[in-house]
Formats: sequence, C-alpha cells, structure tokens
Amino acid sequence: LIQLYQPLNFMGMVYREIKQAVIDIEALFDILDREPEIADRPGAQPLAVAAGTVRFENVQFAYVPERPILRGVSFEAPAGKTIAIVGPSGAGKSTISRLLFRFYEPQSGRITIDGQDIAEITQKSLRASIGMVPQDTVLFNDTIGYNVRYGRWDATEEEVHNAAALAQIDGFIRSLPEGYDTSVGERGLKLSGGEKQRVAIARTILKGPPILVLDEATSALDSFTEKDIQDALERVSRGRTTLVIAHRLSTVINADEIIVLDKGVIAERGTHSELLDKDGLYAALWNRQREADEAREKLERTRAEE
Ligand code: ATP
Repeated sequence: LIQLYQPLNFMGMVYREIKQAVIDIEALFDILDREPEIADRPGAQPLAVAAGTVRFENVQFAYVPERPILRGVSFEAPAGKTIAIVGPSGAGKSTISRLLFRFYEPQSGRITIDGQDIAEITQKSLRASIGMVPQDTVLFNDTIGYNVRYGRWDATEEEVHNAAALAQIDGFIRSLPEGYDTSVGERGLKLSGGEKQRVAIARTILKGPPILVLDEATSALDSFTEKDIQDALERVSRGRTTLVIAHRLSTVINADEIIVLDKGVIAERGTHSELLDKDGLYAALWNRQREADEAREKLERTRAEE
C-alpha cells in the first residue's frame, strides 16, 4: 500500500502546484470552470524578448466555427509604443488579449513577439513577459500587502511601497487601520472597483514586464478615480509595449496608434486627432461617449451640491 501511496501523494502535490500556477491567470479572465486547452508544442523554447514588438499577422479566430470573431486582423505594436484597440461592444477587443496570452489559438495567421511565433514558445515564458491589468481584478483572501507583492515575491518592502505609490494606492493603504497587513476579501475590507484596479497596477509595476495589456474597465468609475487610474496607467506603460483594450475610450487619446475594430475587421486606424478628422466610426463612438460622460459628470456635480 505504501508503494502505491507515495506516487499518489507526489502526484497530488504536483497537481496542487500546477493548479496554483494557473489560478491567477484563469481568474483574470473569469474562466475558472474551463481547463486550459492549449499545451506547449513539443520542443517549445522560452521566449527571448529583445525590444518587445508585438505583431498580429492576418489573424482569423472564432470561438465556435459558425461565428467568426476576428476576420484577418493585422497590426503591429512597436517596442515601447502604446496601441489602443477600440470598437463597439462585442467587436472582439478582449479576444485579442486572450489570443496574445494564448488562451486560444488563431485558426489562421500568427502572433509574434520580436519575430517569435507565440505558438512555438513556452506558455510560462510568454505569460512571464506580459503584464495584465484586467477589467475586474480578483484579489486573494489575504492581506493587501500580499495582494501587491503577488507581482513579484522577492520584492523588498520598499519596492512594494514604491509600486503602490506609483499606482496611487499607497496613501489609501496607509490610512487603513492595519496598513499593508489589512485583510481584504470575504473576511476583510471590501475594495471598490477603482481600488482593486490600482492594486492590479501596483502588482504589474512590481512585476515589471516588457509588454503590458491594459483591459480598461467597462463600467464607469467616477471622474476623479478615473483620472487617478489613467495617471497610474500612463506611468506604468512608459517605455513598455502597451496594448490598451479600451471599452470606454478614456485612455486612448495619447496612444501612438488607435485601431478601430468592427465586426472582426480593422475599420479605421490612426491617432486620436486623425480619426476625429475622419469623422467615421471612431468619431461617432467618441461623441457618444463624451455625451454620456458629460451627463454623468453633471449628475455627480448635482449630487455633490445636494
Ligand atoms: P466589450 O467591449 O463589450 O467587452 P469586446 O469587443 O471586448 O466587447 P469580446 O469579449 O472580444 O468583445 O467578444 C467578442 C465576441 O465573442 C462577443 O460576441 C462574445 O459574445 C463572443 N465570445 C467571447 N468569449 C466567448 C467564448 N468563450 N465562447 C463563445 N463566444 C465568446
């Protein structure tokens, strides 16, 4: 029996370790029910990031065959630049970030980082090179310090505090009764959407990856929080290749290039001012967003005056 027990026990240990490693990434995309389907190819090599140029080359993708989501998407995010992906709801923006993480594989075309096809490299090295600030950050039921440190376990106390300061959350954490040792989650403090997102930004600053994916919040944050978060995001993206998945268009004004996705193809591309001049889909989305924001701000002001 002992002979049987030891290997079983070992397998249990390995299973738990693997499970822990994937838990974070899965939680980011809220796909806890789904086992990862994509495996490393035999002989897969680790990614060697030089400058961090990301390219999508004629990428076609469908979750289910009868419904194509991306129908030949090509763009380049040059090293250190910020590219924003915008478009109507359901256009396939977040799908682009899922493909870059290789949660799914394109049916045709390819995605490269510094010329290396991401289908040919190890997933571990791919995910170590990409920092993700998701829409809805899942926090661990632990202290807020633990949740920031998650970005890099060997970070010093000072590095954790500096990352939190850059993410504009250090002051808030210090104002809590137990500071960085305050519990969050079910048994502790409940953080707002904006606070959680800043914790995710602090984590990412600590991780310091060469490539960043920022999945902007879908839901409206109040204007002050949004400004703080934008400032924090701008700092973290400086000098890194950044892909902003913009559901609300608020972080795109300064992007080096904006890609407007519509019905699975790139409908327009250019800078904010070029696209406004074009007076096409982007300009329409932008004007609609601005009207909604103005109405929201008016409501906030009226509430503040009451
Ligand atoms: P939003 O701005 O509303 O978040 P989006 O442009 O990011 O939208 P995606 O999340 O990329 O949109 O989804 C694109 C389309 O793919 C949507 O119609 C969505 O319903 C569909 N889709 C997303 N995930 C899956 C999945 N796992 N299986 C099947 N269809 C999916």
